[in-house]
Amino acid sequence: MKTKKCNGYESMFTFLSEEAFNEHLKECEECRLEHEKMQRVSELIQEAKPYIQKTKKRKTALKAACAAFAVISMSACFQFFAVTGLYDEIAYANSPTIEEMGLPVDEYGFLLVD
Ligand SMILES: [Zn+2]
Repeated sequence: MKTKKCNGYESMFTFLSEEAFNEHLKECEECRLEHEKMQRVSELIQEAKPYIQKTKKRKTALKAACAAFAVISMSACFQFFAVTGLYDEIAYANSPTIEEMGLPVDEYGFLLVD
Protein backbone atom coordinates (compact mmCIF):
# COMPACT_ATOMS: atom_id res chain seq x y z
CA MET A 1 0.00 0.00 0.00
CA LYS A 2 1.47 3.32 -1.11
CA THR A 3 1.32 6.21 1.34
CA LYS A 4 -0.02 9.60 0.42
CA LYS A 5 2.72 11.62 2.05
CA CYS A 6 6.11 10.51 3.27
CA ASN A 7 9.11 12.78 3.51
CA GLY A 8 11.30 10.01 4.83
CA TYR A 9 11.62 8.52 8.28
CA GLU A 10 13.63 11.29 9.90
CA SER A 11 11.44 14.18 8.87
CA MET A 12 8.28 12.24 9.69
CA PHE A 13 9.71 11.40 13.11
CA THR A 14 10.70 15.02 13.66
CA PHE A 15 7.59 16.82 12.44
CA LEU A 16 4.72 14.48 13.30
CA SER A 17 3.29 14.13 16.77
CA GLU A 18 3.94 10.77 18.42
CA GLU A 19 0.37 9.73 17.70
CA ALA A 20 0.47 10.76 14.06
CA PHE A 21 3.87 9.16 13.66
CA ASN A 22 2.61 5.84 14.99
CA GLU A 23 -0.30 6.09 12.56
CA HIS A 24 2.17 6.75 9.76
CA LEU A 25 4.24 3.70 10.77
CA LYS A 26 1.16 1.54 10.26
CA GLU A 27 0.75 2.62 6.68
CA CYS A 28 4.36 3.23 5.60
CA GLU A 29 6.51 0.13 5.33
CA GLU A 30 9.68 2.09 4.64
CA CYS A 31 9.39 4.07 7.88
CA ARG A 32 8.37 0.96 9.81
CA LEU A 33 11.56 -0.80 8.75
CA GLU A 34 13.58 2.29 9.60
CA HIS A 35 11.85 2.54 12.96
CA GLU A 36 12.68 -1.09 13.75
CA LYS A 37 16.29 -0.34 12.90
CA MET A 38 16.26 2.65 15.25
CA GLN A 39 14.67 0.52 17.94
CA ARG A 40 17.53 -1.95 17.63
CA VAL A 41 20.08 0.87 17.78
CA SER A 42 18.54 2.26 20.95
CA GLU A 43 18.59 -1.24 22.45
CA LEU A 44 22.28 -1.43 21.60
CA ILE A 45 22.81 1.91 23.31
CA GLN A 46 21.00 0.62 26.41
CA GLU A 47 23.29 -2.41 26.43
CA ALA A 48 26.36 -0.24 25.96
CA LYS A 49 25.39 2.15 28.75
CA PRO A 50 27.17 0.37 31.63
CA TYR A 51 30.31 0.28 29.52
CA ILE A 52 30.00 3.98 28.64
CA GLN A 53 29.52 4.87 32.30
CA LYS A 54 32.60 2.87 33.23
CA THR A 55 34.57 4.78 30.62
CA LYS A 56 33.33 8.05 32.11
CA LYS A 57 34.48 6.97 35.56
CA ARG A 58 37.86 6.11 34.15
CA LYS A 59 38.02 9.59 32.63
CA THR A 60 37.18 11.11 36.01
CA ALA A 61 39.99 9.10 37.58
CA LEU A 62 42.31 10.37 34.89
CA LYS A 63 41.23 13.94 35.64
CA ALA A 64 41.90 13.38 39.33
CA ALA A 65 45.34 12.03 38.45
CA CYS A 66 46.00 15.14 36.36
CA ALA A 67 44.89 17.39 39.22
CA ALA A 68 47.13 15.48 41.64
CA PHE A 69 50.02 15.85 39.23
CA ALA A 70 49.37 19.61 39.00
CA VAL A 71 49.44 19.88 42.81
CA ILE A 72 52.70 17.91 42.95
CA SER A 73 54.19 20.18 40.27
CA MET A 74 53.12 23.27 42.21
CA SER A 75 54.70 21.85 45.37
CA ALA A 76 57.88 21.29 43.40
CA CYS A 77 57.72 24.97 42.41
CA PHE A 78 57.41 25.97 46.06
CA GLN A 79 60.50 23.88 46.83
CA PHE A 80 62.31 25.56 43.95
CA PHE A 81 61.41 29.01 45.29
CA ALA A 82 62.58 27.95 48.74
CA VAL A 83 65.95 26.83 47.36
CA THR A 84 66.50 29.97 45.30
CA GLY A 85 65.43 32.28 48.13
CA LEU A 86 62.62 33.64 45.99
CA TYR A 87 60.23 32.04 48.40
CA ASP A 88 61.11 34.49 51.20
CA GLU A 89 60.13 37.45 49.04
CA ILE A 90 56.89 35.80 48.01
CA ALA A 91 56.13 34.83 51.60
CA TYR A 92 56.65 38.41 52.72
CA ALA A 93 54.57 39.79 49.89
CA ASN A 94 51.72 37.39 50.38
CA SER A 95 49.87 37.21 53.66
CA PRO A 96 48.64 35.07 55.25
CA THR A 97 51.67 32.79 55.36
CA ILE A 98 51.42 29.08 54.67
CA GLU A 99 51.55 28.40 58.41
CA GLU A 100 48.65 30.78 59.01
CA MET A 101 46.64 28.99 56.30
CA GLY A 102 46.90 25.83 58.42
CA LEU A 103 49.12 23.92 56.03
CA PRO A 104 51.90 21.68 57.37
CA VAL A 105 55.23 23.53 57.53
CA ASP A 106 58.73 22.57 58.55
CA GLU A 107 60.83 24.39 61.16
CA TYR A 108 61.74 27.10 58.62
CA GLY A 109 58.08 27.83 57.89
CA PHE A 110 58.26 26.18 54.49
CA LEU A 111 55.43 24.03 53.15
CA LEU A 112 56.01 20.40 54.09
CA VAL A 113 55.94 18.13 51.05
CA ASP A 114 56.44 14.40 51.42
ZN1 LIG B 1 7.03 6.97 5.77
